[in-house]
Formats: sequence, C-alpha cells, structure tokens
Amino acid sequence: MTIKPSAETLARFAAVVGEKNAIRDPAGMAGYLREWRDIYVGKSPLVLRPSTTEEVSRILKIAHETRTAIVPQAGNTGLAGGQIPHESGHEIVLSLERMTKIVGVAPDENTLTAEAGATLKAVQEAAAAADRLFPLSLASEGSCRIGGNLSTNAGGVQVLMYGNARDLCLGLEVVLADGRVWDGLSHLRKDNTGYDLRNMFIGAEGTLGIITRAVLKLYPKPQSHETAFIAVPSPAAALSLLSLARELSGNRLSAFELLPELALGFTEKHMGVRRPLTQVSPWYVLAELSDPVSEAIVRILEEALVKGFATDAAVAASDTQRQDFWTIRELLSESQKFEGGSIKHDISVPVARVPQFLAEANAAVERFLPGCRFMSFGHLGDGNIHYNVSQPLGMDKGAFLDMWEAMNDVVFEVVLKHGGSISAEHGIGRLKRHRMRQIKSAVALDMMHGLKRLLDPHNILNPGKVLPD
Ligand SMILES: Cc1cc2nc3c(=O)[nH]c(=O)nc-3n(C[C@H](O)[C@H](O)[C@H](O)COP(=O)(O)OP(=O)(O)OC[C@H]3O[C@@H](n4cnc5c(N)ncnc54)[C@H](O)[C@@H]3O)c2cc1C
Repeated sequence: MTIKPSAETLARFAAVVGEKNAIRDPAGMAGYLREWRDIYVGKSPLVLRPSTTEEVSRILKIAHETRTAIVPQAGNTGLAGGQIPHESGHEIVLSLERMTKIVGVAPDENTLTAEAGATLKAVQEAAAAADRLFPLSLASEGSCRIGGNLSTNAGGVQVLMYGNARDLCLGLEVVLADGRVWDGLSHLRKDNTGYDLRNMFIGAEGTLGIITRAVLKLYPKPQSHETAFIAVPSPAAALSLLSLARELSGNRLSAFELLPELALGFTEKHMGVRRPLTQVSPWYVLAELSDPVSEAIVRILEEALVKGFATDAAVAASDTQRQDFWTIRELLSESQKFEGGSIKHDISVPVARVPQFLAEANAAVERFLPGCRFMSFGHLGDGNIHYNVSQPLGMDKGAFLDMWEAMNDVVFEVVLKHGGSISAEHGIGRLKRHRMRQIKSAVALDMMHGLKRLLDPHNILNPGKVLPD
C-alpha cells in the first residue's frame, strides 16, 4: 500500500535534487503529466529531476521508507500510459531527463555506455561519430530516451536484422526499490554465470527497478543501402516477396514495412508527401537492404514482378529519395490524426499468419462497425502490425472512441486465435493491464507477482501498471 506523501516527505525528496529540480507548480509539471495520445492525464505533488545514480538511490531509499509511489519517466513517448502517474495525486514522477551523458564509446568492442536519459537520437549520433551504428530506430527517436527504450523493450523498423532493444543491450545499472544500486554494467557478449538479471528489468516498464545506465551493442555502420518502394497486390504477395528478398539478398534485408493504400492517401492529403509510384495499389512494401551485394534489389524486384508478388516498384536513386520513402512511413500515425478517431492495436502474430489475420480481423471489425477504415501498417518482417482503425466517415469522434475496448475485444480475439500478442512493441503499462489475466496463464502471473514482491515488497515502483491486482 502506498501512502500520500506528507509535506515533510516532499521536502525530503526535494532536498535530494535541490528546489530547482523539484517541480511543484502546476504549469511546470503539466508536460510530465500528459502523454502523447492524451489518453492519460495524471496528477502529482512533485516531479523530481535527479542528475546522478546516487540521487536516484537516495530518492528511492526515502520512497521505500515512507511508502511513497514513484513513477519513472524518460522521454514520455510511451504509448501504454506507464510513465504517467494516476489521478490520485499521490505518486511522484522521477524524470531521468537530466541524466543524458554518453559515458563512453568503445569502437573496438562495439559498445556504447550511456545514462538512461540520453535520447535515442543522441545515442545514434554518438555511435555514428565513432563510425558505428546503433540500430534501434523509432519515429519518436528525437524524444524517447534509452531508459524508456529498454524499459519498454522497444522495437522499430530494423528489428528484422538487429533485434529489439533487449537484443541490443549488454549490461545495466539499476537502482532497486529500496535504493540499493545493482551494477550490472557488463560489456560481455558471453556470460553464463547464473540467472540473467538484466533481462528482468528490460521490458518491465519501471515496475521492478529504475535503469540509470546501460551498455549498448554497436554494429559496423552500413556503407550502402538499397531501398525500394514496391506496389504489391495483397498481404499474401508481400509475404512471398519477404521470403524472396531474404533468399536473394544473402540475409541483408534490414527493413520490410507493409503499408496500405489508405496510408498513402492520408499522408498525401494531410502531410503533403509525394507518392513514389504513379500506380495506385491496394498495398505497398517499403524494403531496405543494408550493405547488399550490388544491385541485389534489382534482382529481387525482377523476380518478384515475374512471379506476380509485385506490380511496380521505385528504387531510391539518392539518399534524399531514400529519406522521402522513409518519411512516408514515419508520418503515418501523425496523418491519421486528421481523419478523426483511430482505435489502435499494436499486435503481432506468427509472420506467415499476417495475411489471414488481416482478412479475419477486417471482417470481424466490419461486422462490429460497418464503414471503418483500415490503416494496418507496420513491420511485416516481424509479424508486427499496427492494426489501426480509423472511424467511419461522418461518425462522431467521441462516439467512435467510446468503442475502444469493445473493438479491442473483437480484434484481440482474432490475434489470440492465431497465437499472437496483444502488445508487440508498446508494452502493457496502464492501457492493457486489465487484459493480463486474459493473456497470461496463472503460472506466468504467479512468477511475475513473485518477482515483484521480491524486488519491490512495498509496491512503490509504478504501482497499478503492468501487473493485475
Ligand atoms: C511517434 C511515435 C512513434 C513510435 N514508434 C515506436 C516504434 O516504432 N516502436 C516502439 O517500440 N515504440 C514506438 N513508440 C513508443 C515509444 O516511443 C517507445 O515505447 C519508447 O521506447 C518509450 O521511451 P520513452 O523514453 O519515451 O519512455 P517513457 O514514455 O518515459 O516511459 C515508458 C515506460 O518505461 C518506464 N521507464 C522510463 N524510463 C525508465 C527507467 N529509466 N527505468 C525504469 N523504467 C523506466 C516508464 O515508467 C514507462 O512505464 C512510438 C511513440 C511515438 C510517439
């Protein structure tokens, strides 16, 4: 049970970081209490902005002793509400935004060590300055921070080749709920000495500890890319194209994104982007090869056209054109905002089942609410589709959004039937917590609750997130 912090407790917290970094006025706190989609607007008596691991540790010691709830926040781009305090007004926000140091880059061992508040973009740039690649790449990369990326086990567009945030991390420093610091900043690629503690904190969404530093994996920077925007007749054809591209590219396929025609329509209309192809097609694929054998993309496309997996394609002739293709992909979510309400589902199914999933989910949603517009796009290569449904034309936005849970029920039934996940990338946070009993076995939940009790016996770390009561 957490307790409403007294004025004395608040003063003790503030003393750790200094008054300047203990924000209490409503205007100063506003940006920390509201998230990107405006689904959650929280309340808090205090936002703390520590600058060192030691300060985080002192804050947690006080929180543990006084039973005060702490909500860790990094870049506040999370899409499951985990970084926003509840409306009770008792929870304190601990922002990592001042802990932004790139502690070191070691090109010879291909590692980079950063504080948890370093933005993803800053990490990418520090890697590039050392002629290396940090391959995690999200549309939110200018704002999201490494601590948040690891805590949500973020995915993005290059998972196909490099894996998700979990796969890109070698070591962590974590402050535990009682204020102890676990120094797990390993640089090792091989270490089979007991349980994997690091992986417990990755994807835990701030419920088991606060990540303060991380050792990240780097890769050689690709010297060349071949990028194509491809018209495909159907998701099934896109899947065949995916297999073909993998076979013919020597495993150099680094991204394979599926986009519906509606996505091009929205970005053209609202964001002013130019279509890469003159041909209008029901579906498109944005595919990229990194360091391919020269002209591999041309061979893939020639064969795909002959086999009917593709009907048209444009290959980027310059870096600018490559960027133009990616801009379309990056603007999809934004463009949807101009079309009224959108009910989102960040789902995954086994890759080969994506076409069947799309057909069945579309039919189920159409039965549930005729006239919905399907903006299903995403990382086909990972079986991860952002199955976003735009409201029927002319419908009241509020009335549509009131159907959020009911439509989730309809879509998740199809997801689960295909052995999929109802949260492929964005986590559980607050948004999907009530579904944990539906998707996890009693044994799995028992282990999760056991870990939580062990690491956070007073339930002060992000209470009411991820785990069901
Ligand atoms: C435009 C846009 C595009 C996006 N695209 C993608 C995408 O392609 N793939 C994807 O996976 N996600 C995507 N996201 C979601 C989001 O950017 C990611 O979840 C990101 O990893 C969150 O990082 P953050 O720093 O903003 O974390 P926050 O939002 O601040 O926090 C997220 C969660 O992590 C916890 N947390 C934060 N920092 C710490 C810490 N140091 N220690 C412990 N817990 C912590 C918080 O309590 C919260 O539960 C997108 C979001 C937007 C707005």
